[in-house]
Amino acid sequence: MTATPGPFSPPARILLGPGPAMVDPRVLQAMAQTPLGHLDPTFHGVMQDVRAMLRQAFRTSNPLTLAISGTGTAGMEAAIANVVQPADRIVVCVAGYFGARMAEMVRRLGGEAILVEVPWGEVVPAERVEETLDSARRSGAPARAVCLVHAETSTGVLQPLDDIVRLTHAHGAIVVVDAVTSLGGVALDVDGAGGGEGIDLSYSGAQKCLGAPPGLAPLTAGARALAVMEGRRTPPVSFNLDLALLERYWGRERAYHHTAPINSVYALREALRLAIDEGLDARVARHRRVHDQLRSGVAGLGLEFLVDERWRLPVLNALKVPDGVDDGAVRGRLLEEHNIEIGGGLGPLAGRIWRVGLMGYSAREENVARFLTAMRIILGAPRMSRPPRRT
Ligand code: PLP
Repeated sequence: MTATPGPFSPPARILLGPGPAMVDPRVLQAMAQTPLGHLDPTFHGVMQDVRAMLRQAFRTSNPLTLAISGTGTAGMEAAIANVVQPADRIVVCVAGYFGARMAEMVRRLGGEAILVEVPWGEVVPAERVEETLDSARRSGAPARAVCLVHAETSTGVLQPLDDIVRLTHAHGAIVVVDAVTSLGGVALDVDGAGGGEGIDLSYSGAQKCLGAPPGLAPLTAGARALAVMEGRRTPPVSFNLDLALLERYWGRERAYHHTAPINSVYALREALRLAIDEGLDARVARHRRVHDQLRSGVAGLGLEFLVDERWRLPVLNALKVPDGVDDGAVRGRLLEEHNIEIGGGLGPLAGRIWRVGLMGYSAREENVARFLTAMRIILGAPRMSRPPRRT
């Protein structure tokens, strides 16, 4: 007979990877409260608090603002599945891993993904999106939507949104923005984007700059997105992610749809309360401050950023792995000897960059200082070196 494992007690890691970020003990405490029934009027009040605070965080007055039960990927799938119908043409900006994932979802839902691709580490120029929309219109089958990632976590690029919002609307399409890594950490103004035209549909994840554990995906949809959803020929293929049904569950009707993860909703409520108490602008400034601290520290270590200074995402720092240094070995030692997690590169950047996330409760000066000290020790140690790659 095998013995049951003992109770689990996680090591006290400093999470400086692409997410999840660390969680404020106050959020963990909120999460440890006793669960209520999900249709209990008191829990319904908790849901309404979450909706109201999400509107503040997204800077929107959209009535349809809620949290999808699931991670950022569920938020992405909800956004795309509710908008895309078979044969729809959707422009997808692909500047990294998550843009490519949006395109894959469009295709799986029967849409035609028209890609605007740039090399990983660069931003998508608005002119390229405009040319693509123009050529779709000339072909007689205009695009229904433009999908793009605000903060591309795979590259550390912050994508400018305003021009793309304006020109997409001028082409009669809607804008879907992935804000998984940006919400709560960099400026995002859903209603104000594009000179007040607004982003039509956006989603995020609880576990990054918002500072809650993974498991919920905030989402907001504006009037143009609702018009697209209401004009559908058939309901979305996903029952689980049908926003019309979810609105009835989160709204006044309280119509049963699924069982919300009660304790995760408690956690998100507390994380949002803390973020709003801190002040959204002050929070963005804190993320910028720790990024600046990291930037000057890594310069002293001789490390370089992948991304041009103009497009750098302060909450996810892509640092080039120096020639002759073993990426995985450095990350291994950071974790084992210093209790610090950072991320490696994805796709074409695998082995070429480290991804240092400074998000939410992780975005604190003491964490940056510990990371820099650990890197100084590790990079100074001869056993990390291997012969430079022959090219
Ligand atoms: N979009 C972006 C930009 C992300 O960074 C991530 C996760 O890192 C996702 C989507 C998917 O989120 P999740 O891993 O929470 O499903």
